[in-house]
Amino acid sequence: MRIRRLPETVINRIAAGEVVERPASAVKELVENSLDAGAGRIDIVLGDGGRTLIAVTDDGCGMSGEDLTLAVERHATSKLPDDDLGQIATLGFRGEALPSIGAVARLTATSRPAGTPSAWAIAVEGGTVTLPRPAAHPRGTRVEVRDLFFATPARLKFLKSRQTEVSHIIDVVQRLAMARPSAAFSLIEEGRSLLSLAAVAGGGDAQAARRGRLAAILGRDFGTHSVTVDAEREGMRLSGRAGLPTLHRRTSAQQFLFVNGRPVRDRLLHGAVRGAYHDLIAHDRHPLVALFLDLPPELVDVNVHPMKTEVRFRDAALVRGLIVGALKNALAQAGHRATAPAAMWARTFGAGGSGGGLRPSPGSALPLTSGAAAGMDSGGAPGLAETPAAPDLGPLPVGACIEEAPAQASDATVPPLGFAQAQLHATYIVAQTGDGVVIVDQHAAHERIVHERLSQALRSGAVARQALLLPQVIELDGPAAARIVSRAGELAELGLVVEGFGGAAVVVREVPALLGAADTEALLRDLAEDFAQLDEALALRERLSAICATMACHGSVRAGRKLSIEEMNALLRAMEATAHSGQCSHGRPTWVELKRADIEKLFGRS
Ligand code: ADP
Ligand code: MG
Repeated sequence: MRIRRLPETVINRIAAGEVVERPASAVKELVENSLDAGAGRIDIVLGDGGRTLIAVTDDGCGMSGEDLTLAVERHATSKLPDDDLGQIATLGFRGEALPSIGAVARLTATSRPAGTPSAWAIAVEGGTVTLPRPAAHPRGTRVEVRDLFFATPARLKFLKSRQTEVSHIIDVVQRLAMARPSAAFSLIEEGRSLLSLAAVAGGGDAQAARRGRLAAILGRDFGTHSVTVDAEREGMRLSGRAGLPTLHRRTSAQQFLFVNGRPVRDRLLHGAVRGAYHDLIAHDRHPLVALFLDLPPELVDVNVHPMKTEVRFRDAALVRGLIVGALKNALAQAGHRATAPAAMWARTFGAGGSGGGLRPSPGSALPLTSGAAAGMDSGGAPGLAETPAAPDLGPLPVGACIEEAPAQASDATVPPLGFAQAQLHATYIVAQTGDGVVIVDQHAAHERIVHERLSQALRSGAVARQALLLPQVIELDGPAAARIVSRAGELAELGLVVEGFGGAAVVVREVPALLGAADTEALLRDLAEDFAQLDEALALRERLSAICATMACHGSVRAGRKLSIEEMNALLRAMEATAHSGQCSHGRPTWVELKRADIEKLFGRS
């Protein structure tokens, strides 16, 4: 076989295979070009989910006729002034996008640079370039892409439904819009406006501008249910917002990560986020975050992937440490705040004016059975549909009057979670706050407190142990015993001292003092199961914290145990003093609040 050089058209189609995977990737490249051109406004119009038309119009610096000819040539770029791949300050740099798109579609670029009297247009159809011709166009550039993949029918077949392609496009535009708050964006598909974002100046404060743009895209809910992240380490800065752990999703699609203003999907970064939330959220759930990492360009390589969505860091461990540390810190500041429980109640009951309201008609189901339905979570959490019918209580005596609880101290001195008034079903603590009612899930709340204390003790290397008077022999099965014994070192760090005892049994000599009179046998069975499931690849810290969670669960007050008022108040005070006590180790809220105003709405008093 003779070796031959491939024709330019084929080379470009091969490159297009990597760069232009679907309509969203073409949109991404075009919008990146507009941003690199300094556009203040970018308008995107789509036909049939981007298949028939993608038109991106900007008011950026524009191109001369000569530049237009170069722009559609492969490896021609205005963005690497010193040919230095270590100092990339633009979104583009490979000079591949326009020729690639032109190789697989019908592309027309019309442009006019500032200060020149006329515009020029150039067309590329399936790789064939026409000469630039004069055209009419205001300052800026308009790139139209029609019939994407007409020249590569195989790729065309892989396109998903119009809705799917549109949602990918929205995602791409949203991410770029988050990265550049100073530009205005609009996105229209088949005459329907999908996105319209005004420029956010932030009064010259870049962080304020980012916050404003995030709020415009992610909504106010995310704003109220997230905390600010801002940390610096060795010339790197991490800023943005981290969702409270009660706000979670089935996938990590709602994690928006940026490196030096470039949207990325990076395993290291997602992994760091997962690490930070590890013991706050169930293993199969993902928190919502929008995080911006800024670092000197020489510490990161963006030339890793043709789509420029992956990066490599010079010092990955440092980056990971910064992210995990900053997120943990920010979340700890949130203290006992869960996902604004009051808002959840109002919404669930429809008292906020959004729903149909609570109708206590016979057989109607109370809309609240699970605190996990909190916040703006979608999917996964038990929702209203699973609510069993409420028991029929029969008619309430007309005019029944419930005596007021004895007045507590004045409002000013009522702590945030209030004073315990009663325990319901030996499971829930009802407390009166300054301006409402709080209901606490005693097991979930106590579990969180024990968990935090255990982790704290672990961090300071001082887990108090308690020797058992009689070492306890526990019969497990062979594999379970082996798993426990092989991790005896980790368990000892946490105050649980075990040794093998024949094939299928272990002997427990000491337990963490914090766990009190926990059922050691049940604890060990659960731990053995944890070890079977825990990812070997998890860092020791993360494994330990998973073990902490299991221990905490066993060491805490069970649902069903009667508590005295003093015990309940002690628990409430401990919650207030404990980081992360707003949600249990599985990310469910530990308490909910109903504000007095919400109650009044329920009864039509306001
Ligand atoms: P890259 O962005 O990697 O340089 P492209 O193929 O996307 O490669 O674009 C080639 C060149 O065309 C860019 O370097 C830029 O100079 C010019 N260009 C493309 N789009 C625009 C635009 N919207 N406004 C101004 N110049 C543009
Ligand atoms: Mg480009």
